[in-house]
Amino acid sequence: MLIEELEQPVSSLPGIGPAAAGNLGRLGIIAVRDLLSYWPRGYDDRSRENPIENFTRNPKINTVAYVIGHSWIGYGRMKTLKIHIRDKTSEAVLVCFNRNFLEKTLAPGSVFYLTGKFFYKYGEIQSSSFEVSKITGLTFTPLMPLEKLPPFSGGKILPVYSLKEGVGQKILRKAVEEALKAYAPVIDSVVPFRYFEDRRLFDIREAVKKIHFPGHIDEAEKARETLAYEELFKFEFFLGKRIIKKKGSLTFEVPGEVQNLPLILSPSQKKLLESLPFELTEDQKTVLGRINYDIDASPLPESGKAPVPMWRLLQGDVGSGKTLVAFLAALRIFDMGGQTAFLAPTELLARQHGENAAKLLEPLGVRIAFLTGTTTGKDRTLLLEALKNGNIDFLIGTHALFSKDVVYKDLKLAIIDEQHRFGVMQRSAIARKGNSPHLLMMSATPIPRSLALTVFGDLDVSVIKTMPKGRRPVITHLASLENDVKVYSFVRNLLAKGQQGYFVYPLIQREEDWEEEESETESFSTGLKSAREMYEKLSTVIFPEFPCALIHSKIPEDEQQEIMRKFKENKISVLVATSVVEVGVDVPNATFMVIEEAQRFGLAALHQLRGRVGRGELQAYCFLVYGKNLTEEGKQRLKVLHESQDGFYIAEEDLKLRGPGSARGIKQSGYISLGISDPLEDSELLEKAREDAFDFISRGGEIPETTHIGDKFY
Ligand code: ADP
Ligand code: MG
Repeated sequence: MLIEELEQPVSSLPGIGPAAAGNLGRLGIIAVRDLLSYWPRGYDDRSRENPIENFTRNPKINTVAYVIGHSWIGYGRMKTLKIHIRDKTSEAVLVCFNRNFLEKTLAPGSVFYLTGKFFYKYGEIQSSSFEVSKITGLTFTPLMPLEKLPPFSGGKILPVYSLKEGVGQKILRKAVEEALKAYAPVIDSVVPFRYFEDRRLFDIREAVKKIHFPGHIDEAEKARETLAYEELFKFEFFLGKRIIKKKGSLTFEVPGEVQNLPLILSPSQKKLLESLPFELTEDQKTVLGRINYDIDASPLPESGKAPVPMWRLLQGDVGSGKTLVAFLAALRIFDMGGQTAFLAPTELLARQHGENAAKLLEPLGVRIAFLTGTTTGKDRTLLLEALKNGNIDFLIGTHALFSKDVVYKDLKLAIIDEQHRFGVMQRSAIARKGNSPHLLMMSATPIPRSLALTVFGDLDVSVIKTMPKGRRPVITHLASLENDVKVYSFVRNLLAKGQQGYFVYPLIQREEDWEEEESETESFSTGLKSAREMYEKLSTVIFPEFPCALIHSKIPEDEQQEIMRKFKENKISVLVATSVVEVGVDVPNATFMVIEEAQRFGLAALHQLRGRVGRGELQAYCFLVYGKNLTEEGKQRLKVLHESQDGFYIAEEDLKLRGPGSARGIKQSGYISLGISDPLEDSELLEKAREDAFDFISRGGEIPETTHIGDKFY
């Protein structure tokens, strides 16, 4: 039987009465299957000796002790027994709240195994939360040498579960123990046994037993791995099935392993490239070759074959030239007479792309339109009409592009910029628009390989690694707040040469208005520099002779656009901003990026911000100015940025610095939610599971569609 088939109520287990069953129900444990898949959150390892003298380092004591004597505190019904004990290393006291019966069990001279938490209180080493197990037939007196105490022979490793008030570990342990006794011998898996065997994992029965009651702590980990492997195997099985459905086979592109396709340009693609003052980089050519191939290989609707749309994730660092590749893809669609939709995460970004498209594509006869939530009334009606009639070739905008009432005549390609800002749900909404359009998703945020294999596992991935020629690395300096004057005077020299740049702050205004979507509700110490305050200072005191402007999310969209336009035309020299300028802003004449209170930004954000400069031929500079409360971790973060400009390296370091558990953030962001496995932390296991699941598929293996994966039905 599969675990999920064990539908018997927990009350059917021996020793679990209605009251206990009710309590378990409060944890969501109704049936035996819920109980057995209620994984421990940790273990109470009583198998290793930890004598009393260690209590300051590790208060969880496991030892052998004997009773020296008894004493009492309080009077009457409040009377409480104190048992004075000693192990090889130290004396201590057990305070027996509500457990005066121990007076008899642990008479003076008794020897016993002890496990409990000890603290220094009222001048003695005390525990009021302890368990004992008496060694019968033995007495010990203070006159005997301590070496004569029996050796510690190890206790059990007990599971520790997440609890709610009123439900104890004991009842849960008892219930699980009973369930294992009754059902562990009959548990099966949809994953054939030999895959577990080949990977040197437990079989499923062993795993379910040992995750709850491991004999050794290593067994607990191996049990968890076994269960995680099983979960990932199932996940990858269904993913593989989806790939087959879409593509007809289990072929899967791995970046770098794809054969290079010749780049055959369509007429408009050729015209655009001839009009540019530069050549495509090798990586851009490779990717474009791939995309052209996908678009051409997709059968036309009249061919009667099921369309096989491209689903491609294009990764490349900021400024690596992804947008240009996307425009070229749109041109191929244009040459075929189809429509392209270009989706940007914010209106500001959509405008920028719109301007670029107007510059690059309109001269080739592409009819461009712009649609966001603020396009309303007659404008909107006319636009939708034109779109439906096929009088628009290239529609650019925000998620409004995929509203219900937006109807395309022949949508052939959807381009999604900064795709990580959109959820998986939105992706499928887009895929359903029109007649299965090709999807080109772009991201400057490197996605760890393991996530690419799971969440994005049915996408083909292309990577642009090399930067366009002539790009000089941004020179990055770290400076403390006390040295801000030096930074300002350096910037003054650049401004005097007609160059421009940004000053970025974490806050719009002191103590309020966070621009970033920070999740933790930290209360900040006063005195952080803010955009508004520094705009006043920079524009009137520090750079009064240069035009300055302030931009942040609280400024109306149309004003933001106006400011960006002026900045692009070099009518504004200093742009004081929050992280609104983090993505997409492309002003090649901008040569400096000063980020003050840099310690308040995450690595990814800092990298994106720095990517706003160094986009032209001029040497660019980035100053990371940090405030007083720089933590050790903050220092490491800034150092990573100082060392490298490689977005992939930075993303990896970021994961490392945030430490284990950071993967949870990604899970919670809605990317993925599984049960016991963690696609990021279990990345090696994932690759094995994937290989095996695909092998299973290729041998005609099947898993019922109703199979449980993690906490969901797939
Ligand atoms: P991304 O979308 O990857 O951030 P963009 O496509 O916006 O990058 O390109 C950044 C800048 O580099 C743009 O100004 C673009 O015109 C320019 N660019 C793109 N490809 C090349 C190339 N092969 N050589 C020189 N400049 C390029
Ligand atoms: Mg971009």
